[in-house]
Amino acid sequence: MNRIFSGMRPTGKLHIGHLAGALTNWVRLQEDYDCYYGIVDWHALMSDYADTSRVRENCREVLLDWLGAGLDPEKCAIFIQSHVVEHTELALALGMITPLGWLERCPTYKEQILNLQNKDLGTYAFLGYPVLMAADILLYRSEKVPVGEDQSAHLEIAREIARRFNYFYGSTFPEPETLLTPTPKVPGIDGRKMSKSYGNSINISDDLPEIWQKMRTMMTDPARERRSDPGDPEKCPVWDIHRVFNPDEDQKSEIDRGCRTAGIGCIDCKKMLFNHVERCLMPIQERRRRYEGRPDLLQDVLRQGAEKARKVARQTMVAVKEAMGLYI
Ligand code: ADP
Repeated sequence: MNRIFSGMRPTGKLHIGHLAGALTNWVRLQEDYDCYYGIVDWHALMSDYADTSRVRENCREVLLDWLGAGLDPEKCAIFIQSHVVEHTELALALGMITPLGWLERCPTYKEQILNLQNKDLGTYAFLGYPVLMAADILLYRSEKVPVGEDQSAHLEIAREIARRFNYFYGSTFPEPETLLTPTPKVPGIDGRKMSKSYGNSINISDDLPEIWQKMRTMMTDPARERRSDPGDPEKCPVWDIHRVFNPDEDQKSEIDRGCRTAGIGCIDCKKMLFNHVERCLMPIQERRRRYEGRPDLLQDVLRQGAEKARKVARQTMVAVKEAMGLYI
């Protein structure tokens, strides 16, 4: 079976954008691939090194959301990146052959430095973010990587690093390809992309009254100021979420018509959406709760996941050291 690695940084509770844009797909992939899913804590420290007080708790939240969403520790390896030391070892090895220019030119590097001006990201490690990410992927010799568009620049660097390694030391790594999956952009309640850093997210673990409260105040097509104003679903972020979470095609046609003719109001439309999101989140929250009170189970999941990951990681590192001519 082909191996796949994917990861998320432990930045706190995950939202329904993570669910639709990544997790639902990850759950499907565990049926057909040998999947390795890492909570990449070293990556989180690269931008949050000055205040690490929430890393531990955030790892726990991500783990709970993953298990809730249906990642099954019997089918895939779920682990914390720092528990498998080979990630950092391979990153160091790959760092030997990575030209600085590749990292300095990476579009996300410049973008992040501009966007996160309250943090000093002029560090050695932050520049090397794509090298660690390449190590994450190549450690499992993954041929395919399920990542969103936002990560494609990083994946390109991973491919170039693999190619360069193979050129210097002989064929060791496959060049990982993007596993193209439809990943819908889920907007947040203010209409921008749903993101933790914008404070506009509906979290997987929010309780129902909280979700309704957020949805009720969610932005809609600005043309619908009054109930009697017709609207255009294409301009409405609530509609974008319908597209992702509402499987009822007939109902969606009705909403489309109702919105354009002012036959239904935004609150009616939001109530329907709320029902679909509720139906989707109920089993996830139920599973999440079962793990919440069981720290022992969470430990088991992480221990078992790291053991499984380490087996592959060690083999790769032997091959890497042999290829690089180290004394093993
Ligand atoms: P990271 O954890 O690497 O910092 P993010 O927190 O931005 O990245 O999200 C991880 C992944 O979840 C993204 O690569 C993307 O696939 C998915 N994702 C995040 N936010 C959204 C969203 N609003 N809509 C769709 N997918 C999203």
